[in-house]
Amino acid sequence: MSENWVPNTWKDIQPLYKEIEARTLNTGGDLESWLLDLSEVDSIIGGVSSRRYFASTCDTSDEEAEKDHLEYQMKVLPEVAKVGDRLNKKYLASPVRPEMDAEYWLVHDRDAERAVELFREENVELDAKDEELSVEYGRTSGSMTVEFGGKTCTLQEMSTHLESTDRDLREQAWRLVSNRRLEDRSKLDELYDKMIALRARMASNADFKNYRDFKHAAKHRFDYSAQDCLALHENVSRYVMPVLARMQQRRIRLLGLSVLRPWDLAVDPEGLPPFQPFTTQDEQVIVSEKILGEVDQQVATDLRWMHQRKLLDLDTRPSKRPGGYMDVFGDVRWPVIFSNSSPTHAGIETLIHEAGHARHSLLSRELEPGDYREAPLEFAEVASMGMEAMCMEHLDAAYPQKEARRAAINSLEGMLSSLAWTCTVDAFQHEVYLNPSRSHSERTVCWEETWERFSSGAVDWSGLEEARATRWHAQHHIFEVPFYYIEYALAQMGAMQLWSNYRKDAGQTVLDYNKGLALGGSRPLPELYSEAGLHFDPRGEGLGALVQEVEEAWTRLTGEEA
Ligand SMILES: [Zn+2]
Repeated sequence: MSENWVPNTWKDIQPLYKEIEARTLNTGGDLESWLLDLSEVDSIIGGVSSRRYFASTCDTSDEEAEKDHLEYQMKVLPEVAKVGDRLNKKYLASPVRPEMDAEYWLVHDRDAERAVELFREENVELDAKDEELSVEYGRTSGSMTVEFGGKTCTLQEMSTHLESTDRDLREQAWRLVSNRRLEDRSKLDELYDKMIALRARMASNADFKNYRDFKHAAKHRFDYSAQDCLALHENVSRYVMPVLARMQQRRIRLLGLSVLRPWDLAVDPEGLPPFQPFTTQDEQVIVSEKILGEVDQQVATDLRWMHQRKLLDLDTRPSKRPGGYMDVFGDVRWPVIFSNSSPTHAGIETLIHEAGHARHSLLSRELEPGDYREAPLEFAEVASMGMEAMCMEHLDAAYPQKEARRAAINSLEGMLSSLAWTCTVDAFQHEVYLNPSRSHSERTVCWEETWERFSSGAVDWSGLEEARATRWHAQHHIFEVPFYYIEYALAQMGAMQLWSNYRKDAGQTVLDYNKGLALGGSRPLPELYSEAGLHFDPRGEGLGALVQEVEEAWTRLTGEEA
């Protein structure tokens, strides 16, 4: 293929796959170079797909960009999926495959086998339809704005006000956002119904009883099961919730309240005004660079390079999709970071997180085939959350001392509250997809029960029941990427281990971290973890000790009595 080949349409791509499909493969060596050629074509197509997605999320009101993205999703990728299935079959059936290095190709082979096992031509169209519904969710939630202080604000922008020390202002901001979300309550409920029905059909097409088990299989979760996730929910509820309750008690006491309301959770309990470490994207990069450089200078250098190459789109503005992500333009193997940053510490945290992902992609960019350059999320998020956790030890490189302390306390609390929230989101989805025919009110009851399991009990929601009942509407993963969430809990435990190691031996931990990341996705999860000096623990059996260490660090920083 030529240097400048850009696969914009299926017509551009088809001849290449035709040649690949028709090729005669006489030796293990032939088969191996065949796989690598195929991987290169897939990467280039992936690059175009990523660029179009990136453009559509940077401006959700840009109809051209959305059309371009959807056209690729609806017209090109389904064809790629169909030919991909035939090529997988050709590969698996090849008589010369035993000549290849089975150990090297282990992860690739089990992925190929699983893909063939689950592939159903009738699901290709449903997948594309699912993507269309996801885009609808993104459009709906991305276009939500409120009028506040005489101007139109995105809901992300409003989150800054939740850190205000003025309680009335916080309440006003919280209620505005909450009421705006409730305006679209039935729209989002109905959209979710469509998704659930569509997904149940996909599961049944692939001979699964329910979408949960189908999705676990389709996500290639070879190293843990749905049952492990249920055990993890239990362990989080057992070890994390009591400590979170203790953390909330401190907040109640310092704020001088008898009970917390939902708008009291982000404000600094010691009454410090919100800290704004930057105002422009340039400053956001500079501050993040300083902190990252304390852990590993190379990560800071990478970030600077990305900034110069315009591979960062960080600021928040109307019509930008919410959330943040790192993606890779597969053709050139360059990472790109998208986020919606408010000018608070959270904006720095997000950039540090995504810089960890970018580090991962750069360390593994030479691996072949292309799948090996992409680690499974259960480990990919260790790269990002682990980077956050290590950076937590160095915030004073860029922040005043008292701000560094406050942010570290927040991060420690955040580790535990995110475990609880991740399990809430995951446990809810287990329930939803095991019982797909529930009515809206039954689904609400199920949400409330799940919420209760992972609640510290310190927040009073009276009079706000409707807002609590639809709290999940704001969690885009539930709509857009079902069952993509528990990975964060698994990875959070990896990140906590990394942090624990880092506090004992920073130099060695960074070396191990880089070694683990350099493996990309070329090995099973337990091996990726152990290469990074960590233990893969999907059931959360080691959670008790990790939570204890977090609690001790928190106690020391806050000066609370143990
Ligand atoms: Zn991430």
